[in-house]
Amino acid sequence: MARTLFEKIWDRHVVTHGSGGDALLYVDRHYLHEGSFHAFNALAGAGRGVRKPAQCFAFDDHYVPTAGRERGSAGVADEEARGLIENIARNTARHGIRHFHIDDPRQGIIHVAAPELGLTLPGFVINCGDSHTSTHGAVGALAFGIGASQVKQVLATQCIWQKKPRTMRISIDGALGAGVSAKDVILAIIARIGIGGAQGHVIEYAGSTIRALGMEARMTICNMSIEAGARAGMIAPDDTTYAFLAGRHFAPSAAAWEAALGYWRSLPSDSDARFDREVGLDAAALEPMVTWGTNPEEGAAVTAVVPDPASVADPLRRERMQSSLAYMGLTPGMAIDAIAVDRVFIGSCTNGRLDDLRAAAAVAKGRTAVVPAMVSPGSRGVKLAAEAEGLDRVFRDAGFEWRDAGCSMCVGINGDQVGSGERCASTSNRNFEGRQGKGARTHLMGPAMAAAAAVTGRITDVRRL
Ligand code: SF4
Repeated sequence: MARTLFEKIWDRHVVTHGSGGDALLYVDRHYLHEGSFHAFNALAGAGRGVRKPAQCFAFDDHYVPTAGRERGSAGVADEEARGLIENIARNTARHGIRHFHIDDPRQGIIHVAAPELGLTLPGFVINCGDSHTSTHGAVGALAFGIGASQVKQVLATQCIWQKKPRTMRISIDGALGAGVSAKDVILAIIARIGIGGAQGHVIEYAGSTIRALGMEARMTICNMSIEAGARAGMIAPDDTTYAFLAGRHFAPSAAAWEAALGYWRSLPSDSDARFDREVGLDAAALEPMVTWGTNPEEGAAVTAVVPDPASVADPLRRERMQSSLAYMGLTPGMAIDAIAVDRVFIGSCTNGRLDDLRAAAAVAKGRTAVVPAMVSPGSRGVKLAAEAEGLDRVFRDAGFEWRDAGCSMCVGINGDQVGSGERCASTSNRNFEGRQGKGARTHLMGPAMAAAAAVTGRITDVRRL
């Protein structure tokens, strides 16, 4: 029977079925971060050990400061953050789990650093106690976020109970216009299908536009699948995927690589495979996107105006839009490119990779930031590579702050926050109320657009620069 990419991976990982129809799946990779302490505590409370420590990998990302890293964890000023960073070091050491800690040159946001190290491979089932685990689906893996009790379950058994999701294919065809990035593609998809549009589904992104994207751009797209309510997002592996993985530290090599390649090549959805839902998008019609509201579906082309809730028939949606506009301090009909910003953040697991920094630096080069702008590479590997290309110098010369790797201002729990009432042009993935700090107003956009906002002080169509 014809099967989708998702079904092939699912079938291969089912250990057994439960009475309620759920399946017990084998987990190939389990990623952990500082927030995993609940699960380690519960594991200790139950007197359990870690079933397969060699398949677990931990990274410091959410709580690490992005400045003053010379002293490692001892230099973390915030007591709670320091405690969590030291806690995961103790827990991973106790259980023999590999930990890329604050001092490690391979440290970074899990969803940036793990693919970069070749830990994330096609055909894998991957779990992490973090929503944006969907990022790893870009290599053709089934990757999804799990809760703290499930983290404990995976630590103890290397398996997870799951209800089988439905399948959805989003096909994007055609060439993207100049200045239109992967971030614009995913923001346009979410604006179209809504934040609940893919609920209960695993999305497979397909079509000529997706095939033409590099791996980093594919990760940007899969990263935000969760913002459309999807369980996971994935892209079939192809030669672009194999070229990205070849030679990476943890990727298979020699005969093991050839054997893996044989399996990986069998993974793409069969041509006659059926999806529960199909959506199509024309790439040529897309423009740079910006969010104007407080969830990722509330976005529009940079050339548009802030929409008027009065024009919306659905009373619930109208009320939600009114509330979003009140929080964001915007009035209907205002041109989106007339919105002034107070600061800019370039980074996160959505847009903290080398290609993202290159795109932002190309705009910043020879210009000057007129509002505070911070660049936090997604990993130390990205930081080193960017510095080798001189991107740090481009940003510094343009007046941007060049920081160390971590989640940083995406969520602000390391102290990198947007002030109350401040408006931030951000390359992260969530624009919820208070996401970047209490009272902070977030406008999501791509990295070149964020750099354009930094040098003009307002939301700007990067195609004009
Ligand atoms: S960068 Fe933001 S979205 Fe990504 S893992 Fe960190 S906090 Fe979560």
